[in-house]
Amino acid sequence: MKRKIIALFLTASLAAAALAGCGKVDTTGKEDTQAEETEAVAENEAETESSEEIETVIEEETTQVQSGEEHLLFVNGYDKFFIVDSKGNKVNELDISELQDSEFTEYTGVTPMEYAEGVLYLAGTYYEGDVFCKDIVAYDLESKEHVAAYKVDKEEYVNAVDFYNGKVYVATYDYKGSGDTIRTSEKVLEKDAEALKYTVSDSPLNPVLAKISADVQSDKDGAADNYDFRKCFTRELEENGYLVAYKTGILRIYDENGNETGYPMNEDDYVSIVGYDSDNILINVTRYDIGKTERTLYCFDPKSGEKKLIDDSSKANTILYTDGFLYYYEDLSEEFGINNNHVYRYDPASNTSALIYETRNVPGAVYNPGITGFTVINGEVYFVDVMDRSFKWVRVNYDESGASYTDIYCTLKEIDKLKYGDVEYVSKTVKCPDCDTPLNKEYVEYFVFNDSVAHSAEINAELKAQADLAVENYEDYGTTCEEHLEYPEQFCVTEETRVDNIRFIGENYVSVDRSGYWYGGGAHGMPWAEYILFDLTTGEQKSLRDFYSGSDEDFANLMAEVAVRELETNKEFSNQVYNNEKEAVEASVKESTTLDTVTIRFEDKGVYVEYMPYVLGPFASGFVDLFVSYEELLGRDSL
Ligand SMILES: [Zn+2]
Repeated sequence: MKRKIIALFLTASLAAAALAGCGKVDTTGKEDTQAEETEAVAENEAETESSEEIETVIEEETTQVQSGEEHLLFVNGYDKFFIVDSKGNKVNELDISELQDSEFTEYTGVTPMEYAEGVLYLAGTYYEGDVFCKDIVAYDLESKEHVAAYKVDKEEYVNAVDFYNGKVYVATYDYKGSGDTIRTSEKVLEKDAEALKYTVSDSPLNPVLAKISADVQSDKDGAADNYDFRKCFTRELEENGYLVAYKTGILRIYDENGNETGYPMNEDDYVSIVGYDSDNILINVTRYDIGKTERTLYCFDPKSGEKKLIDDSSKANTILYTDGFLYYYEDLSEEFGINNNHVYRYDPASNTSALIYETRNVPGAVYNPGITGFTVINGEVYFVDVMDRSFKWVRVNYDESGASYTDIYCTLKEIDKLKYGDVEYVSKTVKCPDCDTPLNKEYVEYFVFNDSVAHSAEINAELKAQADLAVENYEDYGTTCEEHLEYPEQFCVTEETRVDNIRFIGENYVSVDRSGYWYGGGAHGMPWAEYILFDLTTGEQKSLRDFYSGSDEDFANLMAEVAVRELETNKEFSNQVYNNEKEAVEASVKESTTLDTVTIRFEDKGVYVEYMPYVLGPFASGFVDLFVSYEELLGRDSL
């Protein structure tokens, strides 16, 4: 039922969606960025104690390390972040939400950017009227003082915050010049020796940057989501001897005066610079053709002009070029929905690549295995892995015999649902029998409760049967080989279903929360969510029909009342709907509500009735939720 509705909405709205762009519905990150309910867990106390013991030992060790070099471990989407020394020993553990509540109340959001000499540098965001503003905030971890070290110009975008030679460099870009030409510049923040005070000046390099601004490559591919690896221009010029850019078919190298040396490349190719140092420039060359994309990695030697081939399989994704090595990965999974990432290290000196590790994702956790958080400290690789039912930072140890992963006791988040069981999956790809083009791909996760949950056997059997059915009921567009060979992605229907949460409602019910993403070509696919409720006293699945005594019409009328009430009190709701006049909302809720067509999320005090995108509002509004209490719905205070 649900799938048919989704397909219908999609075909009806494909053209409109393509014009409207992608909106703001976050589907992939839904599970892991959403704060899962934290429960007071007495059973975990023993575990906590032992890890504290280990941490104490490490801290003692840390005091003996006098390296002074400390590093920020931060991944977008997680509150917890860490400062570690050059051996990966935890020096400090911080929490963005806690900091924001206690220290940074004037900001709507803070993002760690750089750490040096006891001071954490964060981007703090806020609104001045409707204008989005950003400060670079310096926060002294010992005194707990903070100050807006640099107020970023409203038209500027911050590209890098880099502590270099005792100063903080903030690299920015803007479009203040003519047309849509990017202008790059740098600010220098100098800290007062005694106090947390900063003097801001223009970088001496700015005249050169102004000269080459339109061309200079300021955002290296591999480091795009890792601020720790973004360097300021001053550092790049001084450490490497030149700056590098790519524009209109020419790889360009600039000296300290902005004088250019050009190396022509193929104009049809899209060239991006992965990273560079004094000896090598690592480039990613992409050629877009109808139906396929070819990607080739090269190592370019600016002294000889020689270009060495690293990989032309089109499968290589670059991660980072650092300390003279390029790290890249290939996903060699043959199952849809599963990543099997092979991470390689390329050494320009020998022009060879070696596999350093491979890893698969744990079902039920949304992350890119072996890649999320990828960082190199002191020549050693760290990333965020799933270990002991948690997202944790690990250090990779590898040699000829293989790789192993060491817990460094920096835990980002527990995956609460894994306390009650495991997530399993079924994956299926249906190919055209004549030409082998994939026409349908299905990935469906299902939960397997452990014995701590009553009637787990019956519940597990039901969940497994539903997953098998979802995979069997595939659909495709019935296209000819000619059509799907030319547009393989547009004519392949894919669907991913993930288990987000396990929630207990009162003592007698458990909800298995799932969400999915359906894609059948076009600008974007269709997200959906589903909450499967089980009665723990019988093991039976329940729906609202089992509790609600009224008719579909009664229910529709009740929801229309709720919607009108919501309109008066909730500005967000009033912004979400197509037309926020009372009569229009009443009519559209009545028209689209039956006990079967809405999604019901059971909670402790009532239910959320969820309307899919496009039902009450445009795609960009996402799911529209209306809360109705059990009191109003069932005449009692709980389910
Ligand atoms: Zn075919």
